[in-house]
Amino acid sequence: MFTSKRQDKFTTGLINTRNDCFANSSIQAFAAMPGLDVYLNDILKQHKLLDKLPTNSEAPKLPLHEALATIVQELQVTITTQHYVSVWPFLQVIEKIFNSKISTNQNDAHELVQLILETLDNENTKLKKFVKQSNLNFVIPEMPFNGLLADQLTCLSCLNSSKPSFHPFAVLSLAVPQTSITSLEEMVKKNEVETINGYNCLRCKIKAILKVEKDQPTNSTAETQKLVAELKQKESNISINDDLPEDLDKFVKNYSYGGFKTENLQSTIVKKTLVVKPPRLLTVHLSRSMFTGTQVTRNSCRVQFEDEEDASSDEDNELNASKENVKYRLRAVIRHHGTHNAGHYECYRHKPALVKDTLNDTVVNTSPTINFGFAGFQLNSNELSSKSHNKRFKKIATVAKYPFWRISDTKVAEVKKEDVLRETQAVYMIYYERV
Ligand SMILES: [Zn+2]
Repeated sequence: MFTSKRQDKFTTGLINTRNDCFANSSIQAFAAMPGLDVYLNDILKQHKLLDKLPTNSEAPKLPLHEALATIVQELQVTITTQHYVSVWPFLQVIEKIFNSKISTNQNDAHELVQLILETLDNENTKLKKFVKQSNLNFVIPEMPFNGLLADQLTCLSCLNSSKPSFHPFAVLSLAVPQTSITSLEEMVKKNEVETINGYNCLRCKIKAILKVEKDQPTNSTAETQKLVAELKQKESNISINDDLPEDLDKFVKNYSYGGFKTENLQSTIVKKTLVVKPPRLLTVHLSRSMFTGTQVTRNSCRVQFEDEEDASSDEDNELNASKENVKYRLRAVIRHHGTHNAGHYECYRHKPALVKDTLNDTVVNTSPTINFGFAGFQLNSNELSSKSHNKRFKKIATVAKYPFWRISDTKVAEVKKEDVLRETQAVYMIYYERV
């Protein structure tokens, strides 16, 4: 057994009894995000207060919030001797919620993270609904992983656009291109533009009908003339995928004159996807599965990523995307080594902000930690940055030199930031927190 006087050398590992590394690495990553600690403390505090109220019905339970807080707290305790626990008490809570067993085969870390975040979101939504229905003056915090994407289609023939459609997300899943090297920034940009052929653009069809009717006045019926006049009047306000009233819709779809048929008129469009609401905690999944016709293989393209990422959007976008300058800092990375079906997951977890209190020669953790809603001693950043405290609290050299732990189940090693950023081929999940 190894021990160290330093409180940043070790952190609690997770034992691997059967194929547990997918869960071990996922939970270690959750222990690296101060924003998650703040959220869990807040919602568990509100829940405790709600439980004490004499309401007619009982507040919905938060079993997964409680289980996650319990295991994250275990992983966040500062230790000086090698130590490990099991992830199974946490996984058993998931099994109980879904009333089914987690397979003992190789599982996917991304699927587990997605399942955990969806379940937390469900518990959060139920609690919010209860508070609203009971007319209670409680503010249930927002899930810090939730963001919003917007899609908009633009036709390359007529240059008109669709109305944006919005999709919430908790994990930003990006397909890794089949090249040898790319960067996260490039992949996010590429996700913004996708070209689709053979699109039935409503504006192009209306434009064509109006042109035919103008150039070659037909002996059209009074009914047709009425519909054409209606189209002419509506044209400028119609988007490329609008729903028309039934009679107009039928007319546009079935229109033909001479050799012209609207059903044959198709165009190419570009689909833009933008993050319109960047989440506080940004979880990126690099989809590395490739179908080769007969089997699924792993795409080992090198994906470069940075310690700091910018999520600022275009100035001139039409999707009302947030124009604020959003900056993220790297908190954790899950690496996957092996094939699509078998392999090993490890986690790079950022150390907490440990400082040395020179007054009594102790180490203080200035990062938020799990307290289940019971406020404990916590220095805030203002206190720490004041001048007198600058003299009292000193940075710890090894925390600055080795800001991450590399955690492979029970094995924990300190690593430099460069070691994490070098994992371009194995990187699978990346966790950022807004600064
Ligand atoms: Zn068009």
